[in-house]
Amino acid sequence: MRRSYLIPVYSNPGKQESIRYTATRFIQFVQHFVNKFFYDKISKSSTKGMGKLANQAQRRATQIIRAQRAASEATGNKSSCPEIKFKSYPAKIEVSEDSSYARVFVEKEEPKLIQSKGFLGVDVGINHTVARSDGYLGPSAREILNRSKEKRAEQSRQIALKEITEIKANLKKDGLETRNFTLSKAKTAKHSALKQQLGIDVSRALNVSKRNSLSLVVENPKSLSNLNTKNLLAKCYFASRATIRAREEGIRVIYVNPAYSSQTCSKCGTIDKRSRVKQAFRCTACGFVAHADLNAACILAQRASVMQHKGA
Ligand SMILES: [Zn+2]
Repeated sequence: MRRSYLIPVYSNPGKQESIRYTATRFIQFVQHFVNKFFYDKISKSSTKGMGKLANQAQRRATQIIRAQRAASEATGNKSSCPEIKFKSYPAKIEVSEDSSYARVFVEKEEPKLIQSKGFLGVDVGINHTVARSDGYLGPSAREILNRSKEKRAEQSRQIALKEITEIKANLKKDGLETRNFTLSKAKTAKHSALKQQLGIDVSRALNVSKRNSLSLVVENPKSLSNLNTKNLLAKCYFASRATIRAREEGIRVIYVNPAYSSQTCSKCGTIDKRSRVKQAFRCTACGFVAHADLNAACILAQRASVMQHKGA
């Protein structure tokens, strides 16, 4: 399978410098720990206060040294110093027109599908980014959207103010009058805050799926386009992102029709519009009470289970 990664390319020299610094430090840490493990034969070593980078380096160094020792034991070849080799993958790199982003294409081996033992239903909503059939609730999508709107408005105000001050200063220098200027639009973030959170929710859902060998159940984007849903984009984004990421992990993703999932009781199956009152679900038939989004997530999981039993 082919997988692409989007990497921001910083035109800011300060940031380039910091990336280079981080990379150098990382390699230094790797070498430091490899030497330490190899010569001092220390089983436990502390990286307290040396930061996350050092911890990563230590973990990598432990792996390298373990492989090195196993190899020397197997071959009887006692090398005096471990050799560090970085894994490299065949990759193709394309840079965006304004060279602010680079896309890296990597060929990956597709893992075998994990035998599913159950289902994890995920409902993408507005009160919570996601609600899962295992009871997990994401943060409020509404708040994230409001916050990013405020942030963007503030950014555009700041940029506009700066521009106007510059223009006024230039005009003054030339002895001209100041007029009204149209405000330029602020640069919008390529990755919105909501998308970022949904990405985190995809990772979390996949972790749970993998740990418990569950198939991931999402709302079918095709049936979504027929429905009158407010947050269609978020739902589609989650479904597509989950599908791509799940393939890499060997997790099955099942699309189910989400119609009436918010009005159906996950206990007795009765469909009634009146069961749903804002964020609460109270079944008009059996009296079952649940969080409305969690109930909907359970319905999705149940539908997937029914689909599989029918042999679909
Ligand atoms: Zn019921």
